[in-house]
Amino acid sequence: MNKFTRFDIHEIIPKKESVLRNMGVPKGKNVSNKADGLISMAMDIFSDESRPVGIHSEILKNEFESTFEGQGKNAKDTPLQHVIPHSNRLALFALTMGKDVCEKIGVLFNDNNFALGSILDAVASLSADKAVSTYERNFSNELLKRQNNQSDNTVLSYSPGYCGWHISGQKKLFQYLHPEKIGISLNDNYLMNPLKSVTGLLVSGKDKIHIFKANYPFCRSCKDASCQGRMKRIINLRKGNERKSD
Ligand code: SF4
Repeated sequence: MNKFTRFDIHEIIPKKESVLRNMGVPKGKNVSNKADGLISMAMDIFSDESRPVGIHSEILKNEFESTFEGQGKNAKDTPLQHVIPHSNRLALFALTMGKDVCEKIGVLFNDNNFALGSILDAVASLSADKAVSTYERNFSNELLKRQNNQSDNTVLSYSPGYCGWHISGQKKLFQYLHPEKIGISLNDNYLMNPLKSVTGLLVSGKDKIHIFKANYPFCRSCKDASCQGRMKRIINLRKGNERKSD
């Protein structure tokens, strides 16, 4: 069954510091009043123009097998293949920041307002990332309420186009979830419109299933190795919980 989520903009909009880090400004470095003003302006535009919304639907492991197979272009071995068998609940999701804010970014670039356009682009991308984290938390809470989940469970998302799951996997994901219902379409190159949209699989399971060695062949060309930060967060959270119960 499809469920819809309307995200609270205040919950997902990034802090100014995060926007600066995203733009490559080192921590603690002061920026000019002009740059500071542009960031404030971009955040105001994002608040006015974005309509963050999501859709998710639980999927059984055997149903997901065919979705994951996609067009048969995945890497031979992927983290998900090892995570799924040990998971306890799965849900496909799609979310978008909406078409208006994406059009606004395009208009700013067309008007040669690259500075504001780039900052708004960064704000929208960071907000989409935060919306994914919100989805992970919400799905975890949803399962806890239904008592399908235990306290040492973690929900993490995995997306087509990353970690060996070929981008063409979007097609089957769309066939199952129908993100068109929240205004997201897919073109022949598997790119989504609006651009500031994310799809993926929410995987619930014991913390340890999300911990793995990132030594797959495709890891060599991975630019941000985001799995490392995610694994570190899980390990630190678990350590913190253990200290509390000591
Ligand atoms: S290093 Fe990159 S490609 Fe490899 S598992 Fe981590 S995030 Fe995925």
